[in-house]
Amino acid sequence: MELLKEMVLKYGKVYPNNVLKVDSFVNHQIDAPLMKQAGDEFYRYFKESGVTKVLTIEASGIAPAIMTALSFGVPMVFAKKTLPSTLTKDTLYSTEIFSYTKNVTSKVILSKEYLSQGDRVLIIDDFLANGGAVMGLDDIVKQAGATTVGVGILIEKSFQEGRKLLEQANFDVHSLCRIASLDEGRVTFE
Ligand code: 5GP
Repeated sequence: MELLKEMVLKYGKVYPNNVLKVDSFVNHQIDAPLMKQAGDEFYRYFKESGVTKVLTIEASGIAPAIMTALSFGVPMVFAKKTLPSTLTKDTLYSTEIFSYTKNVTSKVILSKEYLSQGDRVLIIDDFLANGGAVMGLDDIVKQAGATTVGVGILIEKSFQEGRKLLEQANFDVHSLCRIASLDEGRVTFE
């Protein structure tokens, strides 16, 4: 997606450990027209997949996921990183996800109310690095007896392991931009 590539080049900042900071339009301040365009593009690509629900993880996945859900006309649901006092163990699915940027493994949860057997799930996230977030979300989908029908990513770092892992697991992955390298502090697209 050209607009996303332009914004990555203009505002993205490369940090150590191959982290791209996009706080001014994705992760802190959010560019709404960009997210709308991303949602429309995920709809164009996955519209024949029978999507019944869009799934992401808080917080950065929520903006692209809600716009995607709007394009599909289906609900969006997000995995939470903290346990609300209103939910008990038997009313939720949970899994462990390793955070690439924070370097910690944490439990994420989803209420059983919002994902059911038979749901056809489109997983959306802001970044694909080593694939831990998507695999964790798919684990929740499996616990629900639902099916992941696709994965939509804003920014894929193709030089990391995620793409390979997801393809080995037979996911249809659609990334709106693919970064080949962040070497020497410069973004190079595929
Ligand atoms: P993965 O689970 O694929 O290793 O990493 C994806 C998750 O880590 C995303 O949910 C995203 O929040 C975070 N992430 C991975 N790489 C980057 C990065 O370069 N920049 C930012 N801002 N987040 C990243």
